Amino acid sequence: MPGTAKPYAVLSCHVERILDDRVWHAYLELVRRRPGGFVVASLVRPADAAHGESERVWLERARLLAAEGPFGHHTHWTSPDHARPADDEDTAARVLREGAWLRGHGLEPTVFCGGGWYTDASVAGACALLGYVDCTPRMARPTYLPEGAPWAQLGAPARVETAHGDVLAIPTTRSLGDLVRAAARPSRLPEPVVHGYLHDTDLLDARRRRALVVALTALGRRYAVGEIDGCAARVAESAVRVPWQAVARGRASGGEE
Ligand SMILES: [Zn+2]
Repeated sequence: MPGTAKPYAVLSCHVERILDDRVWHAYLELVRRRPGGFVVASLVRPADAAHGESERVWLERARLLAAEGPFGHHTHWTSPDHARPADDEDTAARVLREGAWLRGHGLEPTVFCGGGWYTDASVAGACALLGYVDCTPRMARPTYLPEGAPWAQLGAPARVETAHGDVLAIPTTRSLGDLVRAAARPSRLPEPVVHGYLHDTDLLDARRRRALVVALTALGRRYAVGEIDGCAARVAESAVRVPWQAVARGRASGGEE
């Protein structure tokens, strides 16, 4: 469309089961295929040695992903199958510990997403300390969260003030299902940066996998498709500054529902 600037679109994946061969091969295939030109940001959950996960295989595969596109950090506070933290957990400590472990093994995560969309003021501060771009804020409330559960809300990229400096947030705006529905309609989505996400485990379902590839291919024609590190560089200067309390939702974070 001449004269009409295309809005930016990026894609990230919460890589939950990097050690599961079926999930891993399906995910690596998608990453290398780059449907629609989307360079997927791999937000990988670190190996959980306490739950018997192999760090050696994890590191081999994580390094392969880091060579293919943006590499990020996804935290599960409780266990591989339980993302959100227990009430009394020092949530920032785990993020900082995992961030140091990743860097100690030569990985350089640039983006972060809290498991189960969990975040709080100290987690946002940990992201600032680690120099991450935070993708945990959502445009809309995750429907499955119980009442009062903490999360963060943003509709457009912003610099969020924390006790440890600002963190650039690029909110996650669309689920895999949203992307499939959006691709079937002629109009563009309204948000300034469309940020879709999936889970690597979504790819085990052949129908969902095909639907995703078809949707990304269609969306790739309508949007300026890129990758999240480039998007961050592009929006960093113009992003508005907002206090943490303006994005915090849920009782435990002191924000409104
Ligand atoms: Zn997760």
